[in-house]
Amino acid sequence: MPEIPEMEIYKDYLNKWVKDKQISEVNVLRDKSVNLESRDFCYNIIGKRIKDITRRGKYIIFHLNDGHFLLTHMMLDGRLFLLPLDDQKKGQSIKELMSEVVNSEAADLRERFKELPGRPSVIFGLADDSVLFFCSLTLGYLYYLSQDELETKLGKLGSDPLDPKFNAQEFIRLLKGKRGMIKPWLMNPKNIAGVGNAYSNEALFGAGILPTRLISTISSDDGVRLYDSLVNILRDSIRLGGDMEEPFAPWDDFTGGYNPHFKVYDRSGKPCPVCQNVIEKSEVGGRNAFFCSLCQK
Ligand SMILES: [Zn+2]
Repeated sequence: MPEIPEMEIYKDYLNKWVKDKQISEVNVLRDKSVNLESRDFCYNIIGKRIKDITRRGKYIIFHLNDGHFLLTHMMLDGRLFLLPLDDQKKGQSIKELMSEVVNSEAADLRERFKELPGRPSVIFGLADDSVLFFCSLTLGYLYYLSQDELETKLGKLGSDPLDPKFNAQEFIRLLKGKRGMIKPWLMNPKNIAGVGNAYSNEALFGAGILPTRLISTISSDDGVRLYDSLVNILRDSIRLGGDMEEPFAPWDDFTGGYNPHFKVYDRSGKPCPVCQNVIEKSEVGGRNAFFCSLCQK
């Protein structure tokens, strides 16, 4: 599942390639991926300009020039893909390309658009002749929301660890008096927004804290180490390309660059990069925890 680094990389790409563009065409191929009747969804969005793109936790927010927002969450396998028409499909208009996509069977589509990271759920044609695909929004979604609706939807979301107003003191304050194990707490978006299984495992390893450690036993020093470890790993991953397999566009060879840098996540049975002990795996709070029982206490 994409986490903060992967969504931050999407956000940066979208700001570079999609910001200030007008949405000239919209096609909803999977009605359940959007929050309105598909006709109303298209009617509300066609002709609008994307003023800005921001991120909160694992959410991407498109700010439209009518004061409304498009909120997207990728969940497990949702992916974005940008296809510049002028590079790949010369001579084809956006309308033609979109009707081809809409009318294709899944197998034809895979053959015709090999780069697509999944079955398109929603497609935007942009006024500069590029096409933005929202693919595989099966658990994920794309909602058209007013400011109030957006605030209600994100109201219970915890702090984003990369928010400049968030810091180690605030992190320690959040942990105070909490019960249970640290890893499930770290992954709960009501506590900290945007940290999933991959980066919670890595952050705990970096801080020398076992995923099963009870929060009541975490000292202030442990808390500072965990905060620093989490923030540094998230920043490193953003700098190196995150861990997503699928590129954002045909030209994108940056995405996925963090994959070889995972130290414990998805490395059970392999040697710990610090002490060579075998990385273990066990279920903690319903999710797989990866850890080194010598380096983490
Ligand atoms: Zn170790």
